[in-house]
Amino acid sequence: MSVSLQDFQRKDLIKKLIESGIKDRRVLDAMNTVKRELFVSPELRRFAYENNALPIGSSQTISQPYTVAFMTEILKVETGDKILEIGTGSGYQAAVLCELGADVYSVERIEQLYKEAGSILKKANYKVSLKCSDGTKGWKDNAPYDGIIVTAGSPGLPEALLKQLGDGGRLVIPVGDRNTQEIWCVTRTKDKNGKEIFTTEKYQYFKFVPLIGEEGWENADGR
Ligand code: SAM
Repeated sequence: MSVSLQDFQRKDLIKKLIESGIKDRRVLDAMNTVKRELFVSPELRRFAYENNALPIGSSQTISQPYTVAFMTEILKVETGDKILEIGTGSGYQAAVLCELGADVYSVERIEQLYKEAGSILKKANYKVSLKCSDGTKGWKDNAPYDGIIVTAGSPGLPEALLKQLGDGGRLVIPVGDRNTQEIWCVTRTKDKNGKEIFTTEKYQYFKFVPLIGEEGWENADGR
């Protein structure tokens, strides 16, 4: 089997992710399988394996590989888990979740991106259920989810997403102001009396495009 330049570049990126502290072998293997170059425009393909976010049109970005690895590691995806992603963007994160054996649902609010991601994922043989809508309201029809990952910065925790987590489910979401957001992981469990408990763990800061919608920011200026 021939090895392409992209295969070399992908392996090199995985090495960098390990050096940056990513430990979960399944996440690293998944990212070593997904061809990130397919999720960016032809002019940007040569930058696909630099550890950077890249523009995907409509003023949005495909997230930096380190960010994808970090959030996916925290999500702790098991084979067969039902995962909801908010912010399909290019479709890359959804493909990584598929490689982890998840049953993936993804919501994108911008129609152009929703259509493009659908066609790329189909061409690359990833089966993802997609919806063009305000993801701050989740996707109730398929709830409950084992995990929900939000790939845009939110001013708080959308109530609808918390409600759509199953018992033991995890919501991984960047929360903060317009400039910087901390990654939070909220786990839904029950105490011994059956009362619902939400436990929040807080991780490092990143910078995301804004989550715009009913339970997010009002507009692109992040107000
Ligand atoms: N996960 C994407 C990928 O792998 O390419 C990266 C996503 S980009 C950083 C964030 C995405 O969230 C953008 O495509 C943006 O349009 C979308 N977004 C923002 N607010 C949203 C909302 N309320 N519902 C759904 N998508 C939203």
